[in-house]
Amino acid sequence: MSLKSKVTGLILAGGRGTRMGRVDKGLQPFRGATLVAHVLQRLAPQVSIVAINANRNLPQYQAAAGDAPVLPDFIDGFEGPLAGLQVGLQYCPTELLLTAPCDSPFLPADLAERLYAAMQAENADLAVAVTMEKEDGAAEPYRQLHPVFSLMKASLLPQLDAYLDTGARRMESWYKSLRVAEVLFDDADAFRNINTLTELQQHEREQPAPTAVPAPAGDADTLPVAEARRIICERVAPVDGNEKLALRASLDRVLAEDIISPINVPAYDNSAMDGYALRGADLPADAGAPEVTLKVIGIAYAGRPCTQAPQAGECVRIMTGAAIPPGCDSVLPQELAEHIGEHTVTIGHGAIRAGANLRRAGEDLQAGGIALARGKIMRPADLGLVASLGIAEVSVLRKLRVAFFSTGDELRSLGDCLDDGCVYDSNRYTLFGMLTRLGCEVIDMGVVRDDPAALEAALRTAAADADAIVTSGGVSEGAADYTRDIMARLGDVAFWKLAMRPGRPLAFGQVQADGHSAWLFGLPGNPVAVMVSFYMFARPALLRMMGTQNQGIPAMRAKAAQAIRKRPGRTEYQRGILDTGADGEPQVRLTGAQGSGILSSMTDANCIVVLHDAQGNVAAGEMVEVLLFDGLI
Ligand code: AMP
Ligand code: MG
Repeated sequence: MSLKSKVTGLILAGGRGTRMGRVDKGLQPFRGATLVAHVLQRLAPQVSIVAINANRNLPQYQAAAGDAPVLPDFIDGFEGPLAGLQVGLQYCPTELLLTAPCDSPFLPADLAERLYAAMQAENADLAVAVTMEKEDGAAEPYRQLHPVFSLMKASLLPQLDAYLDTGARRMESWYKSLRVAEVLFDDADAFRNINTLTELQQHEREQPAPTAVPAPAGDADTLPVAEARRIICERVAPVDGNEKLALRASLDRVLAEDIISPINVPAYDNSAMDGYALRGADLPADAGAPEVTLKVIGIAYAGRPCTQAPQAGECVRIMTGAAIPPGCDSVLPQELAEHIGEHTVTIGHGAIRAGANLRRAGEDLQAGGIALARGKIMRPADLGLVASLGIAEVSVLRKLRVAFFSTGDELRSLGDCLDDGCVYDSNRYTLFGMLTRLGCEVIDMGVVRDDPAALEAALRTAAADADAIVTSGGVSEGAADYTRDIMARLGDVAFWKLAMRPGRPLAFGQVQADGHSAWLFGLPGNPVAVMVSFYMFARPALLRMMGTQNQGIPAMRAKAAQAIRKRPGRTEYQRGILDTGADGEPQVRLTGAQGSGILSSMTDANCIVVLHDAQGNVAAGEMVEVLLFDGLI
């Protein structure tokens, strides 16, 4: 049996990434892939299967892992590598487990082999890597243990469980209770892990980075919209950090946890109508049966139940919402009674069926069930639903911090005088509106001149402070040259030419400053282009970062009320007005001139007509797709 078939690999990616500014380390881009993908690539040839231990961004890890499992800690609370190891051992289908951290893209190709040889030779439970290191200026090198590079018997799980039960969490301390073989590796660099974003950048620079951006599809050198959106949404991940809020304050916020119903709603069977609660067995039996007269023995109000159980031939007057009296299973609405006497009610055949007009306990929500799933944006109905469970506080994800600024020497802020050749900066206002509607905490950084130093300073400030940065202008060809240099220096930013109109140029990537990083959306400058690109690319990505489940904009099909010119090979977003045609069906007409600088086309619109890539001219009466922007624009 080969060694490989006996070993399961476990990549430890479950940490908080504290030293990396709390970004998810394993998912950081590095030389054209993510860090975890590099580790996976180095481990895969040494083991039969690789699992990844991760505690957030599980879908992204799953995307990197392919078929391999992604395992969150079994114990809560980011308890460190031993917690990851525990779940790895629980999973491990082979006799040995090999661990490596997600930030060690250079790990040795013979790690498993050498650790195994020592384990055998020393009859050890676990083998761990050691290197000799030397401090600058120190005379003597010292032995550096690398506890997260280890090979161990899967049978150690009970010992680890017992150790974790004591509350202890340190890997090296646990190792002290085991038979450990230490294996000296010569190549200390192979165990180097990347702890900070600065280190990441240093390593990135040591080798030329293959471009992270796929080659544009098609013959034109443009990237299709869907492809750009996919890349963006795959790269960003929800931010960490929750807060507990009073229920009302949670409006428009994103739920951080499932809301589990502590009770049945309704809590008891109750009446859906004003009428008479009765026993179904007392209803007239069949078509020929005579009508039935029941004696009314009591009255049940909402909040004031009648506890008396009617006997055969008896019933209880009942109001909507009142608890169904014991023994009753049906309600006769008062308007369906044949006759109502002083203390009697008469029911004809077929007035109701047994079981009618009851709201059953738990029919809205069952105790123990998920009432609202995490990732839901709290809307008015959700506030009501949570209140119906008696829950006064909910846990929501923290607000996303988004910095934004406009670039351009021609821009003047409100209050400035409009010099020749200048325009007022409108993008900062549309961006403010769009970001605020999205529920972001906005940081308005004003206008930045077309000057490399000013741009660099603004990006650095924004990256240090925000989760995302949205800029407008300066990314089109020609204009982008120095922007490109600066962004490349600060991080990993791609410049795309998109097959779309309006909004052809777009910059997207990550910029870093002071150990923090932020996703950058460099939108074009034209006022309509900035909005369309925001909705198409920034909005879904920001929603994903906010932790929402649903990032789409509602779409429907409508009849084009007019012919629309369209060139195949690019996606066009035209501003439309959706209403109901003479035939009662939805129809859409355009808002007039569609130039990318004509903002009034946007203010008049209540929808965007999406004309897809391959689509050509549209004839009047043809169906087109529209995005329902009303309320967003
Ligand atoms: P740019 O992408 O920087 O080449 O800008 C393209 C066009 O959009 C130019 O006509 C700019 O004047 C205009 N523009 C850029 N930024 C803004 C802004 N913040 N407000 C209004 N117009 C802008
Ligand atoms: Mg400009």
